[in-house]
Amino acid sequence: MAAANGALEHGHPDGKSPALPRPVRDLEVKFTKIFINNEWHESKSGKKFATYSPSTLEKICEVEEGDKPDVDKAVEAAQAAFQRGSPWRRLEALGRGRLLHKLADLVERDRAVLATLETMDTGKPFLHAFFIDLEGCIRTLRYFAGWADKIQGKTIPTDDNVVCFTRHEPVGVCGAITPWNFPLLMLVWKLAPALCCGNTVVLKPAEQTPLSALHLGSLIKEAGFPPGVVNIVPGFGPTVGAAISSHPQISKIAFTGSIEVGKLVKEAASRSNLKRVTLELGGKNPCIVCADADLDLAVECAHQGVFFNQGQCCTAASRVFVEEQVYTEFVRRSVEYATRRPVGDPFDLHTEQGPQIDQKQFDKILELIESGKKEGAKLECGGSAMEDRGLFIKPTVFSEVTDTMRIAKEEIFGPVQPILKFKNLEDVIERANSLEYGLTAAVFTKNLDKALKLASALDSGTVWINCYNAIYAQAPFGGFKMSGNGRELGEYALAEYTEVKTVTIKLEDKNP
Ligand code: ADP
Repeated sequence: MAAANGALEHGHPDGKSPALPRPVRDLEVKFTKIFINNEWHESKSGKKFATYSPSTLEKICEVEEGDKPDVDKAVEAAQAAFQRGSPWRRLEALGRGRLLHKLADLVERDRAVLATLETMDTGKPFLHAFFIDLEGCIRTLRYFAGWADKIQGKTIPTDDNVVCFTRHEPVGVCGAITPWNFPLLMLVWKLAPALCCGNTVVLKPAEQTPLSALHLGSLIKEAGFPPGVVNIVPGFGPTVGAAISSHPQISKIAFTGSIEVGKLVKEAASRSNLKRVTLELGGKNPCIVCADADLDLAVECAHQGVFFNQGQCCTAASRVFVEEQVYTEFVRRSVEYATRRPVGDPFDLHTEQGPQIDQKQFDKILELIESGKKEGAKLECGGSAMEDRGLFIKPTVFSEVTDTMRIAKEEIFGPVQPILKFKNLEDVIERANSLEYGLTAAVFTKNLDKALKLASALDSGTVWINCYNAIYAQAPFGGFKMSGNGRELGEYALAEYTEVKTVTIKLEDKNP
């Protein structure tokens, strides 16, 4: 999570800032198996798959490859753990909160190890893994730990001869399918609310980045969660992912990933048992810079907003609309920022940009960069891969971008900043809202009327005013339109993980 000014948040849940430790060099990966019932299992098929370092392209290790039979076993364990009378169901609400706090303590203890695993597997800078991904995980676990004993129904006035109230009950076994860009954070966004509400879970991390999730499995056991409450099945989308989304004993599924796969998950959910589905999908997020903005702030936030995490964020500021009076100056300063961005070894503590996740994404980004050049955008800097450096791409800025160009319409998921020009608010509102996406939007202006007008007019789940990527465990996050269904984080997330039961008691005598 980046702080409100777009710079990186170096906070700490206890108000203290831990110093950035050295990454754990030569870390031996301990957890590579399927985690079911608090035990480590080999895959039923006997298959394994390799996970690679995107920076060196070397194999890190092999991981047990789950498939449908392993998902069945995990769901069986999760169902048993959810049975009435099980240790998990008998645990008092405060006890669930305590376990989540204990898990947060262990994540804090192993923070450097987890950040190292994240950097090994994703190629993201260790600086970011430690201060942003892990910070977000700890805060999210603590936030939902606090909710565990505050999940309350309502007393509802009906006629005076009944007492009517609601109970908010867990939905049962929850599935979670997560992406590779924030492997542990996206998983914790789903795990923490599911557990605080008393559910059990089956998780599938992305095949590119399974290691941090599996380490978390060991911490779940150490924290004292009863067996079967959390189960983790690494593997591929069409096998493990499809088995989770179509499983008739899974009651709810939370997915973060592409629109394409989100549709498959929702279809499979409908065909199997109409399980509840929450989806957090892509974005092509407008970032609107008005002529009256604090230009230093806007340039920095727009830069961090698009280049953070190698551009691999669903919140990426990938359509920057700048008002014509300040357009030239904005482009000039943005190019300065982009050319200065430190790209390199993600374990170097000064690095701000590492490699892209894999060859497929790398090729897709370069292809979109070429389309920008061909369609007439002006390449201001970057525009190609780093020479002899595997999956690294130069920070790229395009100006003179127009709405019909592919780089203005398609999610790039790479270090590419397309800058467009606008003339007035009505024009920019219509253009900002013209795509099928609606995840986030940002506005830079010093004029309160303008800020509020845009906050109300923009069709997106989040609007940031004079800040970027200001994501908090307390505030809901999710998309309008095809950017998703439902909300994660905040009190709103609890509704996704609970069933509402109405209890009506007929009284013998009329109430006085
Ligand atoms: P990306 O394009 O960012 O890799 P995806 O949507 O392909 O995002 O992947 C996000 C997650 O969805 C990953 O864990 C992936 O394995 C999983 N996945 C891919 N295909 C399917 C599928 N058919 N059913 C369920 N999950 C899938």
